[in-house]
Amino acid sequence: MFFSSLLVSWYAMGMGEERYDAIVVGAGPAGSAAARGIAQGGFRVLLLEEHTQIGVPLHCSGLVTPRTLEEAGLDNGLVLNRVVGAHIYAPSGRRLTLGNGLPRALVIDRVGLDRALAESAQESGAELMTGGRLLDAHREKGGVALAVRRKDAVQTLRTRLLIGADGAHSRVARAMGMGGPVERVLGLGAEGLLPGADREHVQVFVGNAVAPGWFAWTIPLGNGRVRLGIGASRRVKPLAATRLFFDAYARHLGGWQQGRWTGGVIPIWSKRVTVKDNVMLVGDAAGQVKPTSGGGIYPSLVSARLASQAARVALTADDLSERSLRAYPVAWDKTFGREFRRGADLRRVYKTMTDEDFDRLLRIFGAKPLLSIINRHGDIDYPGGMFRRMAGATPALWAFVRGPLRYGWLWR
Ligand SMILES: Cc1cc2nc3c(=O)[nH]c(=O)nc-3n(C[C@H](O)[C@H](O)[C@H](O)COP(=O)(O)OP(=O)(O)OC[C@H]3O[C@@H](n4cnc5c(N)ncnc54)[C@H](O)[C@@H]3O)c2cc1C
Repeated sequence: MFFSSLLVSWYAMGMGEERYDAIVVGAGPAGSAAARGIAQGGFRVLLLEEHTQIGVPLHCSGLVTPRTLEEAGLDNGLVLNRVVGAHIYAPSGRRLTLGNGLPRALVIDRVGLDRALAESAQESGAELMTGGRLLDAHREKGGVALAVRRKDAVQTLRTRLLIGADGAHSRVARAMGMGGPVERVLGLGAEGLLPGADREHVQVFVGNAVAPGWFAWTIPLGNGRVRLGIGASRRVKPLAATRLFFDAYARHLGGWQQGRWTGGVIPIWSKRVTVKDNVMLVGDAAGQVKPTSGGGIYPSLVSARLASQAARVALTADDLSERSLRAYPVAWDKTFGREFRRGADLRRVYKTMTDEDFDRLLRIFGAKPLLSIINRHGDIDYPGGMFRRMAGATPALWAFVRGPLRYGWLWR
């Protein structure tokens, strides 16, 4: 702590200084949306990104709901494909098909999304600095001082409010003593050709030998192109997991020709500190990722909007204390709290499941009454309500939740 303060002060002595109302670190969806929201209030905002190109390298499969693009304020120009449902496979070979023919999700150009959001932040008045990497930060009178490396030089930037939108390995969270995720899932993805791939359905593959603690997936782009991915949470090296995946599901993956693997960490949500004096965290930096699916684009955009609303009020009042900024976690909890708590409970159940359980569960879900609940009420952004209805309709589901959850999520 002492060392990092010394480091920042030392940088400050040597280099020119800039002062902002808000500096947002990370130009992913969360950062650009937060910068846009604050700049719209007329404040001086800097959006800082370590890479020279926005959105690159890609570490995402780009499956989102239509409401995600609405939240982003973007049109359908980024949509590459529409999916109507999912085929879910258990290791036993059992398959469950979900969906009733209506469009459920969009496959988007994720790099394009990041670029469009960063542009809209700039159009709203935010300054964008690419190739600038946050090295360290410390609180000082009236705000936060940041040491930023850019083109081999280190400069000091000063701000009244620092927003960490710097992803799963957030340096802001570490520098400001705000902890990190309790659980990380390692994800690998690649785009490639899968001959005969169903254009309208996502495929999800579960099984403890295949993707322990998580799942593998293919997302169709059309014309045989898919985005394939695999996640693993139980100390299994992702590349080793992909070999097991290809062996176990050889029949479904035959003829696969892939491009380069890209990887990333999915910080599974758990209750976290997201504000401190002069500091806020949003998106993956705050672990705002759906615990059941790892989807983080939609929650990061909504969280950024809530954070920027609270930031504007706090900046106007010139009160950047934790107490003032708490309007953001309070609003977040109203929007997502119950959903994410249910998701975390479901995840706890999921992690205890054996391959036999997966098979049994797909059989139970395949019964007509449950299938119709899923097809009517299924919502990738808010799955909790659907699970609640299902458990109400089918007491057999209790067998799965009763053991792992001492206090059932159904009652919250
Ligand atoms: C394999 C995989 C597949 C996924 N698929 C999906 C999916 O299909 N749908 C979905 O909704 N979600 C998906 N996700 C999750 C989704 O990618 C994230 O939740 C989302 O990107 C979070 O956005 P963010 O802005 O918080 O963080 P990021 O998108 O990670 O952006 C953080 C930014 O901060 C920058 N940065 C980091 N450190 C610094 C620093 N020190 N200084 C300056 N800049 C810095 C980074 O370069 C980056 O641009 C997937 C994740 C993985 C790993």
